[in-house]
Order: sequence, then C-alpha cells, then structure tokens
Amino acid sequence: MAENTPPVIVWFRHDLRLGDNPALHRASQSGRPVLPVFIWSPEEEGEWPQGAAKRWWTHHALAKLAENLENKGSNLILRKGPALKTLRALAKETGAQAVYWNRRWEPAVIARDSEVKKQLKADGLEVESFNGCLLKEPPEVQNKQGKPFQVFTPMWKGAYDGWHPEAPWPSPRSIRSPGQWPKSEPLAGLKLLPAIPWDGTMRATWKHGEAAALDLADRFGREAAAGYLEGRNFPADFGTSRLSPYLASGEISPRQAWHAVLEATGLKPGAKLPGGVEHFFKELGWREFAYHLLFHFPHTHSRPLREDYDRFPWKNDDKALKAWQRGRTGYPMVDAGMRELWSTGWMHNRVRMIAGSFLVKDLIQNWLNGARWFWDTLADADLASNTLGWQWVGGCGADAAPYFRVFNPVGQGEKFDPAGDYVRKHVPELAKMPAEYIHRPWEAPPLVLAEAGVRLGKDYPMPLVQHDKARAEALAALATIRKA
Ligand SMILES: Cc1cc2nc3c(=O)[nH]c(=O)nc-3n(C[C@H](O)[C@H](O)[C@H](O)COP(=O)(O)OP(=O)(O)OC[C@H]3O[C@@H](n4cnc5c(N)ncnc54)[C@H](O)[C@@H]3O)c2cc1C
Repeated sequence: MAENTPPVIVWFRHDLRLGDNPALHRASQSGRPVLPVFIWSPEEEGEWPQGAAKRWWTHHALAKLAENLENKGSNLILRKGPALKTLRALAKETGAQAVYWNRRWEPAVIARDSEVKKQLKADGLEVESFNGCLLKEPPEVQNKQGKPFQVFTPMWKGAYDGWHPEAPWPSPRSIRSPGQWPKSEPLAGLKLLPAIPWDGTMRATWKHGEAAALDLADRFGREAAAGYLEGRNFPADFGTSRLSPYLASGEISPRQAWHAVLEATGLKPGAKLPGGVEHFFKELGWREFAYHLLFHFPHTHSRPLREDYDRFPWKNDDKALKAWQRGRTGYPMVDAGMRELWSTGWMHNRVRMIAGSFLVKDLIQNWLNGARWFWDTLADADLASNTLGWQWVGGCGADAAPYFRVFNPVGQGEKFDPAGDYVRKHVPELAKMPAEYIHRPWEAPPLVLAEAGVRLGKDYPMPLVQHDKARAEALAALATIRKA
C-alpha cells in the first residue's frame, strides 16, 4: 500500500489495551496506517466526570498504553476534547478517512457518541464501533417477553449460563504508522495527577498496564479461584481478583479475564467448572447486569429505580458524612473499609456492602452521598457498577437487598475478619486490640484498652451511633414511605 494511504483513527476510551481490542484489531487488519488517539473530555461525561482516584489511574494506564504502542512501532496521540471537534481536526490534519472505537454504555456517552458518529458520517468518513467492554452488550440481552431483566439470576440463566466467550484476540503483531504523526499533548498536560500528592499508598499498591492485569488474573486463577466461593468474603485475604480497576479502564477485557482465569486453573473450555470459578464468571455477570440496568433505566445513576425512595426522609448531617468518609465512625470494620478506600483507591466488596449499609441505614444518609464519595475515591469507579452497588445497598434498585435487611457492622466484622487482621492493617490505632474486642472496642474492659494503648474518644472514636437504635430509626423512616 502506498506511503500516503490515509490512516484509520482508533479512538481509545475505556479500552486502554492492545490485546482483545476489536477497534484496534480491525484497524490494523485493514492494512492501513493506524492513528491511536485518546481524547480527554471530562465535560462530555454528563454528571459523572472521572473522580480523582480514577484520573490517577487513567494517567498511569495511558502511560502504559503509550509504551506498549511504541513497542509496536506506533504512538499514542493525546488531545483535549470536545471529541467531535478533535476527531474532525485530526481527520483534517492527517487525511484520515475512517474512525474506529469500542462502544461505551453510559447514558451521556451514548448520546455524545451517537452525535459524533452521525456528524463524522455526514463528513464522509467511515465510522465503525465495536464491542470491546462487555461479554454481551445490553441490546443483545432480553427476557422472553423482549423486556429488560430486573433480577440477576434470570438474566444469567437466560443469557449466560453454559455460554463461553470466544477466545480473546491477541495484540496486533505490528501496527503500521502513518507517514507523519500529528501533534500530541504531553501526558502531564492532561493534569490527571493530583496537585498535592496523596497517592503514595496507591503507587505502592498497584501495577499498571495490560501485562500487570493479565498477571493478576493468572495469579488469582492459580491461587484463589477454586476457593472463591468462600474466600471472596474475607477482606484480609487475596480471595478476589482485584481486577476491577483494570476492567474499568479496559486494561483487561472481561473476555480476557474469563479466559486468563480459566487457563490458570488448568481447565479446558467446556470442562465442568469448580464452584469458585463458575462464581467468578457470575461476578463478571453482575458487571454485565449493571450495564444492562443503566442502559435500560438511564436515570438511575442519579435517581432510585424504585421511585418511592424519592420520598425517603434522609438525614442531612454533614458531620456524620465526614466521619464516615474519613473512617472515623467508631465501627472498626466500617472505618477499615473507608480507610482502605482512601489509601489504596479500592475496597473489598464485602466491606463496600458493610460501609455502604452503615451510611444508608445507620446514618440514614442518601445513597447518592455514598455514590459520589466512592466515585471520587475509587480507582475502579464505574458508573454502572457503582450505581448498582449503591442502589443494592440502599434497597432502592433492581434485585436489591431489602431496606429492612440492615448489616450489623460488628457481626459482619466478627464473621468475615475473625482475627481482626483487616482492621489492624487499616486502623493502626487498634493494632494491639485482641480479636475478641477488635470489632467492638467500646465493650472492652479498661485494662484491655490500656494494654492495647487505646483511649476511646481520643485515639479512636466512640461509635457515632448506637447500631440497634439506628436500625430501629431506619426502619421507622422506611415505614413512612411505605404508608405514603
Ligand atoms: C456500594 C458499592 C459500590 C460499588 N462500586 C463499584 C464501582 O464503582 N466499580 C466496580 O467495578 N465495582 C463496584 N462495586 C462492585 C464490587 O464491589 C467490585 O466490582 C469488586 O469489589 C471489585 O473487586 P474484584 O475485582 O476483586 O472483584 P472479583 O470478586 O474478583 O470479581 C471480578 C469482577 O467482577 C465484577 N464484579 C464483582 N462484583 C460485582 C458487583 N457486585 N457488581 C458489579 N460488578 C461486579 C467486577 O468487574 C470485578 O472486578 C460496588 C459495590 C458496592 C456494594
């Protein structure tokens, strides 16, 4: 093909990887030069532009993506949005006649992308979009009546049970470069990193890029997948994959995660799966369910699916909200979770449920306060999963935990962190507390507290609320919307 063959623009978004990337795969297979582009346009993400922890993650994921592209003889062009204007400018500068991308399913992004597609086509460009982020996309999945699912199990049984995703596509062997590269912003110019560095623990916790994601999936498959059914409940252990930030940025596709875990367990596709592995696939299914719901009920990122919860008499208590955010509620399991979140950008799922339930049911705070805080502090912040998680916790979503089922933060701690190791790691003030009292230090005899070096109310707070009373208050609040 001639040197001046027009390039195909590949617009990277939530798919920051070379492997199993349909848009990149198709573009490089076409034999044409490929122009990989990332456009930073937070103003086009509706009410949910990336929060601080996710921006931090995106910075590092982009650095790795650029490195991986350079290793293939290519490059990553960085630009600031808006997307349509930027893509048009790039097409003009480079003579590109095609733009490829992998689809995203957040409501504001669907609207933006539809417009971009329409306008670029009207400009005479070839525009193609692909499925690179989900096992099955929302329009492919429906119940027998042709309606969306609102309960997970029938969706899983109806559309995924016994189904296996095809093998992921490998990274392109080489990527043809355009004759000339257009100008790129420096990565630092996107200003994704915090101005005041708070990311020390995050840097020590995570490795970035698709190779790190595949390694982690492999480690999970070898060490934890078989025992996942039980192990996924114990936050002190490596019992879950911790792949969520990589899935959210697209450094790994769900199909790659599925296959990498299967391969690491030594099982062949089609083999009878041990319960743990099957359950891991089901959890990937919850991610699918989250996107299914957000697509069919696009208002739910900011409004409850169950409309009666619009009338819930939430409390406005800034002091209590701040204590929760900072991990100073006086309930060690809640505080450990909130501090794990703050320091690492991730929180174990069991503890997300405990800490979330505490905010909504013990502090009677609107679930949106929690969703917004998680959005800013989670490296895996994902609009669909965060919405589903918070509406599940708040009892106001599809297939949610009923509002009257209130997690007891002490009981949950004693059951799922029996030795107290998780609390000790994240709440160092309690490091010397014996397991017997670590989840309820206020019941410890003065001698035990003194030996552990804990002065309650000074080193570690007294409980912000009394759980039993708070529970009764939450149930009374629920009764008001039920009567109305
Ligand atoms: C209040 C609340 C908020 C949440 N916010 C988010 C969020 O913003 N982003 C996010 O990715 N997950 C969110 N979750 C879901 C879940 O907590 C995380 O996906 C999980 O903890 C990630 O850890 P892991 O990768 O080790 O999961 P694993 O147990 O290894 O599961 C594998 C993958 O399956 C998916 N998955 C697992 N559980 C769920 C679930 N309940 N819902 C949707 N997908 C799931 C994730 O992609 C996860 O990486 C939230 C849950 C709650 C209760």
